[in-house]
Amino acid sequence: MSAIKDLLRGRKDQTFRPKKKFEDGSGHSSLHKYAKASLKAGLDFSELVKLPPGEDKNDWMAVHVVDFFNRVNLIYGVISEYCTVTSCPKMSGGAKFEYFWADETNKKPVALPAPEYMNNLMDWIESKINNVKEFPTTTNVPFPKHFPALCKKILTRLNRVFIHVYIHHFEPIVSLGSEAHVNQCYKHFVYFVTEFQLVDYKEFEPLAKVTDQLCPRRIAMLKDNK
Ligand SMILES: [Zn+2]
Repeated sequence: MSAIKDLLRGRKDQTFRPKKKFEDGSGHSSLHKYAKASLKAGLDFSELVKLPPGEDKNDWMAVHVVDFFNRVNLIYGVISEYCTVTSCPKMSGGAKFEYFWADETNKKPVALPAPEYMNNLMDWIESKINNVKEFPTTTNVPFPKHFPALCKKILTRLNRVFIHVYIHHFEPIVSLGSEAHVNQCYKHFVYFVTEFQLVDYKEFEPLAKVTDQLCPRRIAMLKDNK
């Protein structure tokens, strides 16, 4: 057990919310185990993210979206005490980028301090993945037509959490010894979203250098496909 895992395990209480789990016996559950086992085997990320032969793409997206949500939630939980209204009065990605919040009830985008934005973001994603009409937990319920678009939106928003954490809160990540863990999670995320074209090229602009270093040539794939 690595130090980082011990650390994260000890800090479980700092995550915002309980982890979403798929019911055992559902198709999603076995796919989830498959994804986890492959990760442990230390496979190359470019192979790891590919849709396994004969599997349903929506299922593959669903297990990854839920898994990335849980992992990003855990990462933000580790640094959330450093992300305050005072330290981060804006939800920014460096000096050049600011993100505004909007959802189904607040359609006009508003500027929010980062912790409030994060709270809305995690609540919003949680409401989606806990809604069985949008994220079916058994294989007898079909995925909605807008499922790929919904996954894109969720992943685009999770990407903003990575951006904010990398640019504004990387020091505590390093001093807590979580750097390798965060890098590995971000790498897996980037390989997955680039494999299926789920986040736009322009969304990577604030972190382009880091992303290119960790995942050479991956974001270029989004540009080539534009
Ligand atoms: Zn912050």
